[in-house]
Amino acid sequence: MHKSECYSDWEGQISHRISTRDQLEKYIKLTPDESAAFDAEVPLSFAITPHYASLLKNDALRRAVIPTHHENVFRADELDDPLGEEDHRVTPHLIHTYPDKVLFLTTSFCSTYCRYCTRSRMVGKPSTSSFEETFLYIEKHTEIRDVLLSGGDPLTLTDAVLNKILSRLRQIPHIRLIRIGSKVPVVLPMRITDNLCSILRKHRVWLSLHFIHPAELSPQTQTACQKLSDHGISMVSQTVLLKGINDNTQTLVDLFYGLLEINVKPYYLLQCDPVRGSAHFRTTVEKGIQLIRSLHGHISGLAIPQYVIDAPGGGGKVPILGNEQIRREGDGVFFINYKGKEYYYPDPPSK
Ligand SMILES: *Cc1c(COP(=O)(O)O)cnc(C)c1O
Repeated sequence: MHKSECYSDWEGQISHRISTRDQLEKYIKLTPDESAAFDAEVPLSFAITPHYASLLKNDALRRAVIPTHHENVFRADELDDPLGEEDHRVTPHLIHTYPDKVLFLTTSFCSTYCRYCTRSRMVGKPSTSSFEETFLYIEKHTEIRDVLLSGGDPLTLTDAVLNKILSRLRQIPHIRLIRIGSKVPVVLPMRITDNLCSILRKHRVWLSLHFIHPAELSPQTQTACQKLSDHGISMVSQTVLLKGINDNTQTLVDLFYGLLEINVKPYYLLQCDPVRGSAHFRTTVEKGIQLIRSLHGHISGLAIPQYVIDAPGGGGKVPILGNEQIRREGDGVFFINYKGKEYYYPDPPSK
């Protein structure tokens, strides 16, 4: 029996998380570079669930969650807070960037940390302030219609805490849509219990799920998504475009069709944010355009997400369809957001 099967419930998976080099070496043999990364001061927390560790035979997934020395290489145009979220933080837990939607950071905890995390500045670090100020802000701001719960991963909260947050939000008459952003069905599929499904269903929550590769579509993850779907929960996916992990047409086609087969609609293909130490994960924007154009017309339209750049500095997500929309200059590209303002994305070095 594989180790991951010893922890069939989600609390067991969390308490047996792999968070040291020694624990990780029980699953896979580390390369010298991976091993050395544990000796360096790694800014981002390290943790992987036993379930996800059981998938690490796949090299692409391995690169996404195991630190390397590249993380400590900082480029001049990379930022701790690439999306300018701190400038739009209106309460300790709330980011209000767009006019009618808000990002509610419910927890800084994830069961598994992605090395390219756009919120590496805060995940894995405890925060204790209460949600009251955030609820009051949302209640007062009647222009808000859409609340996106994120973090950290909100589905690592207990059923009781989630139910409380969702009940409070559902009492606000101007809130029309509640979404949860999560990677739990991928990294912690046993968290998708009947009780959790009933809570999500009761509050009519949409799930926005983080998937990067078809190897993440394990039998347990397929079962979890099928269960969510059977409970009537609507699901979309968000995929970060990652160099050497999913930056080729075949991988993306396999992932997007695989998602449709478990009732998850591909929603966004995101250009990787220029967070500090991310150059080894980022592709050029030109590569992103080439990939999205290799899909349009060639596969089911339903399987194609929108390719977006989240404008560094807080301009919001900008859909990119082709080269007409971008202006290349120096080592990056300029593009225009929904307010007509120009933003810059720094491409990674070409070699
Ligand atoms: C991505 C994001 C949202 C949601 O945007 P959609 O394009 O509607 O999915 C809301 N707020 C912030 C700050 C975001 O980054």
